[in-house]
Amino acid sequence: MGKATQHAKASASGSHRWLNCTAAPTFESQFPDNDPGKYAKEGTLAHKICELTVNYNAGYITKRKFNSQIKKCRTDELFSEEMIKTAEVYGEYIWEKVMSFSEKPYQQQEVRVDFSDYVPEGFGTSDCIILGSGHLIVVDYKHGKGVPVSAENNSQMRLYALGALKKYGMFYPIDKVTMAIVQPRVTEEVSEETIPLSELLSWGERIKPIAQKAVSGIGAEFKEGTWCQFCKGKAVCRARSENMTALEDFKDLPIDGKLSDDEKTSRMAAMDAGFTLPPVLTDTEIGDLLYRAETLVSWYNDLKAYALEAILTGKDIPGWKAVAGRSVRAFDDADQAIEDIKKAGYEEAMLYERKPKTLAQLEKVIGKKEFDRIAGSHVIKPIGKPTLAEISDKREPYNQAAVDFKGATQA
Ligand code: SF4
Repeated sequence: MGKATQHAKASASGSHRWLNCTAAPTFESQFPDNDPGKYAKEGTLAHKICELTVNYNAGYITKRKFNSQIKKCRTDELFSEEMIKTAEVYGEYIWEKVMSFSEKPYQQQEVRVDFSDYVPEGFGTSDCIILGSGHLIVVDYKHGKGVPVSAENNSQMRLYALGALKKYGMFYPIDKVTMAIVQPRVTEEVSEETIPLSELLSWGERIKPIAQKAVSGIGAEFKEGTWCQFCKGKAVCRARSENMTALEDFKDLPIDGKLSDDEKTSRMAAMDAGFTLPPVLTDTEIGDLLYRAETLVSWYNDLKAYALEAILTGKDIPGWKAVAGRSVRAFDDADQAIEDIKKAGYEEAMLYERKPKTLAQLEKVIGKKEFDRIAGSHVIKPIGKPTLAEISDKREPYNQAAVDFKGATQA
């Protein structure tokens, strides 16, 4: 989870950022910690339930203790039944992994790991570590339901693995390492990467000088990219702003554009030689611009959020002010309002609309299994409207022929 409660300057969860932008840890240190929002608190509770589930499955706690702890979790206002289900998915995965060993492996939840041999003062907490027969498995549970996080080449997971190695390597010989991310609210598939120990160690050596730079700040450099998303200074960072404003022209192609090196080189050469670019953008350029415009929109939203917050706390952002947004009329007491209308002689039939619950609401009320049994045969899933997505998106490309065919057979 990356929930080191006191922060390491270069944390495992922020490693994707500081490995790319070595200036980020020093830059971020001037901003206060963000208040952990509702989602972070929900994540903490979901992790707690995961931990209890795995400990119960492993026989580390009794059923009585498990039930009483879960009962306690249920009293939390952020609790939802979904947390029990996602913890079961996580628990099942851990159980399968444990059972795949020929001899019972060592297994531990919420393990504090120290990877300071690679990252100065680096430490964190790994959700689950399983060890045995030369195999180290590091598992992370993610409760978010946004973007799927891949375990492939994932620096956070690799740092946890290096920390686990430091902790247990003396007692358990290890020759291969699996890093796994369970994210049940996004996908049923668990993302895994298995690499030989030698590969993990050489990766650790490669990042050492980068981590040194990031922590000391000496020789650190700003570099804007997708990793800015969770940077505390993202709204006010000049490096990010300069990269965004470079979109106005093509003189300095942003680092993260999608043009190939050949395309960039020939474009620069043409401009250096004084050629004017053709008035019509090519499809390749449009693909590149779309990608960068998306980044620009996200930066614009960060600027807006920062400015609003600043104005509301009494600062002056020249040229801008906070106003009340559009609001919709509502009853202060809907029951009383309806009662008054009825008393005025209006028929109930005019005042109420009888609507069935949505499919998702009915499924929730009846329960998934029972819902499938009774109404499953009536459930259809029409193909959604086409929408633009990056090529890396996991969904299948939209198939117009399949849509036309479906339409024809339904007619
Ligand atoms: S916003 Fe981006 S470029 Fe600026 S410090 Fe943060 S990670 Fe680096």
